[in-house]
Amino acid sequence: MVIESCRLCPRECGGYRDNKTGKGFCGATALMEVARIAPHYGEEPCISGKRGSGAIFFSHCTMRCLFCQNYEISHGGFGMEISAEQLAEKFKELEKSGVHNINLVNGTHYIPQIRESLMLYKPNIPVIFNCGGYEKAESLKLLSGIVDVYLPDFKYADDEMATKYSGVKNYCETAIKAIDEMLAQTGGLRFDESGMILGGTIIRHLVLPFGTKNSIAVLNIIKEHFGGKAFVSLMAQYTPCGKALSHKRLNRKITKREYQKVLDALFDSELDGYAQELEASGTEFIPSFDLTGVL
Ligand code: SF4
Repeated sequence: MVIESCRLCPRECGGYRDNKTGKGFCGATALMEVARIAPHYGEEPCISGKRGSGAIFFSHCTMRCLFCQNYEISHGGFGMEISAEQLAEKFKELEKSGVHNINLVNGTHYIPQIRESLMLYKPNIPVIFNCGGYEKAESLKLLSGIVDVYLPDFKYADDEMATKYSGVKNYCETAIKAIDEMLAQTGGLRFDESGMILGGTIIRHLVLPFGTKNSIAVLNIIKEHFGGKAFVSLMAQYTPCGKALSHKRLNRKITKREYQKVLDALFDSELDGYAQELEASGTEFIPSFDLTGVL
């Protein structure tokens, strides 16, 4: 595959991508790269369940979050090439292993290639697209009918903060449009008889240190814009990693007081959703990126 001038994500950098070259901002070539393919237990209970979520971690990223917990693969680009056919085989292997779903983690810059794999083999378990909320609705349309669950972040209401922390412009409006498209594709949440997700969209929000104002504004936007269709997963697991370790506002976990303020806002908003325990913060949620399941 050759992408002469890539405009797949909202960055629209126009980078040239072929099987060997990745000249765009994200650094991804036209060939997918992955860093880990294995059951993952750190997602929401309706996704991880008892047998784990079949997570496929893609290398490279269209964002540059200073606090990224998967730094070595997103910014560093660590990973190994995998063809659409090989990825389709990995879907089969994961499905056979008994995981509850296929969880495509951070694959925004590979949407056409992922589509190709899913056209070769559509698993009989739900397919989840797990992403940063920084997607183009037009690109997401390529996944319509083949992705069952979207798991987007809604990181920022404050665009200045988005630029400072994640190197993106116009994040808030972009995320609203992307989530509109996701909700239109999936409809409301559906679960099986044991409470595992079958379809729908869950909007994730990670509370950041000194970030309560932004978090409350995000919840307000979700309520105002998506209303009763929204289901929120509030996350407390922030742990300083990568560049955040030396950043004066990002180098600590969130406090009990900060989290409580956001929890109160979630409660007052009457939005449906989950809230993670504060004790969940820590590095145990970060898997090893050592090509497990890839080789
Ligand atoms: S996916 Fe990568 S190459 Fe394509 S527009 Fe986005 S940053 Fe640029």
